[in-house]
Amino acid sequence: MSAAPTPRSVVIVGGGVGGLAAAVRLAAGGHVVRLLERSDRVGGKLGSHAAAGFRWETGPSLLTLPAVFDELLGLAGTSLAAACRPVRLERTCRYHFADGSSFTTWDDPAATRAAVEALAPGSGPAWDRWARRAERVWTTAERTFFAGPIEDPRALFARMRSPLDLLAIDPLPTLHQRAARTFADPRLVQWACRYATYAGSDPWRVPATLGCIPHIEQAFGCWALAGGLATLAGALAGAASSLGASVETGAEVAAVLAAGPGGRVSGVRLASGETVAADVVVADVDAAHLYADLLPDRSGQRRVRAAGRSTSGFVLLLGAEGRTEALDHHTVLFSSAYRQEFRDLAAGRPPADPTVYVCAADRNDPSAAPPGHESLFVLVNVPSADDPDAAWADGRADAYADRVLAALDRRSLGLRPRLVHREVITPADLAARHRAVGGAIYGTSSNGRRAAFTRPSNRGPRPGLYLVGGSTHPGGGLPLVALSAKIVAAMVDADGVVPG
Ligand SMILES: Cc1cc2nc3c(=O)[nH]c(=O)nc-3n(C[C@H](O)[C@H](O)[C@H](O)COP(=O)(O)OP(=O)(O)OC[C@H]3O[C@@H](n4cnc5c(N)ncnc54)[C@H](O)[C@@H]3O)c2cc1C
Repeated sequence: MSAAPTPRSVVIVGGGVGGLAAAVRLAAGGHVVRLLERSDRVGGKLGSHAAAGFRWETGPSLLTLPAVFDELLGLAGTSLAAACRPVRLERTCRYHFADGSSFTTWDDPAATRAAVEALAPGSGPAWDRWARRAERVWTTAERTFFAGPIEDPRALFARMRSPLDLLAIDPLPTLHQRAARTFADPRLVQWACRYATYAGSDPWRVPATLGCIPHIEQAFGCWALAGGLATLAGALAGAASSLGASVETGAEVAAVLAAGPGGRVSGVRLASGETVAADVVVADVDAAHLYADLLPDRSGQRRVRAAGRSTSGFVLLLGAEGRTEALDHHTVLFSSAYRQEFRDLAAGRPPADPTVYVCAADRNDPSAAPPGHESLFVLVNVPSADDPDAAWADGRADAYADRVLAALDRRSLGLRPRLVHREVITPADLAARHRAVGGAIYGTSSNGRRAAFTRPSNRGPRPGLYLVGGSTHPGGGLPLVALSAKIVAAMVDADGVVPG
């Protein structure tokens, strides 16, 4: 006799990429799915904004691991190539250092290695060692850490072939320690440390495991989508709908309902007062919001606090005449004092001398700016805050925007006189728009060796409740939140299996 998963009625709370990915997977698995998103559009942090002929991403600007989305869209009979217009970038990122030097990473590994040698002669062998280790970390983590839930460490160990797998994912040193042991040139150390910020975390605290991200970019590419990354949200919503899921916007969930203390979830109540019954509730909201507001739960709140919030982001959306030659599609302008920057963040202060990331999407998509102009999405890491409204009130947002522009001025980009449009997105805006508690971009942080285990787990404290998205396992970032949906869909099926 074969075993078959029982079809369930599923409510998904939140239409970010985690919720949309869960809708696709669960609808493809035969469940009856209703996705409820409070705002007037799906995609959550994955969004775009257009004004004065310019278009900017307002959240993610870089797509990695496209195969994750190809597989997902494949469940609805389509693909990333068919549903979006993916562009694999030839030059993946340009880095400018405070001493005036710079280098470019390329899709072609040999070109990247040559650029590293040109920047820091003699660094090639160290680069090769770094690349080999990064590949080993990824290939091991992919089949262990990312392949299922880690409700407790035993779940992870069960997926390991031997204890050597644990060492292979390099969890013991911090990312900074690993980088400093590998590279003699401080600029390459700074380059490597940057990858902690992909998880809203601190290179002096995050495990060296995150050193696998450069391998992911090198091996599987850095991607843009013509028309903007936010088109992915529409593609996922379309895929979910085509599989029979109901994707509803303007539907704010006020409570997750459960049968008595410790009992199974029974559905949700909307802010409108309507009740929606369901066997399964999948929460794609920040776990802090879930456990404080929707289904108050002390131990869940403790777990959220223990995990710690990720950093937030301060964004400038700029439109400028002409073209800044020093800027590529993706450019990082490093500060002179990286350690101090993370000390500032840890102390809850926006960095005085910030590293600035710029995405000039028009470099590969002319529709992002009017002819003769450029559209620049500028992002600086700033701390999340207990009260982001207060933290960014009283002119502090405008003052910090000027500080960021001054940091760009110091690089002689000649940008300020050419500006024709300027908008700001603060952590307070991120909190209000997406219910990102404290404005945290990635929900929980990855700081510390135990971070992966202290993060709120995919299985909620009530039977029938599951968590997807940035604040649960395996973490934030587009491909990871999509993987959280894969993990949860498998859990829903396994929990609902009846003898066939
Ligand atoms: C500025 C910025 C830059 C980034 N850059 C990158 C990048 O380059 N590459 C990358 O991979 N990732 C990047 N990220 C991270 C990435 O955007 C997130 O990790 C990912 O989009 C999070 O998806 P999610 O599903 O977890 O949650 P979210 O996108 O936060 O979605 C949650 C949804 O739930 C809804 N919601 C909340 N409460 C309720 C409720 N009570 N009822 C109904 N709906 C509710 C919200 O409105 C929201 O739509 C960036 C993020 C930001 C903000």
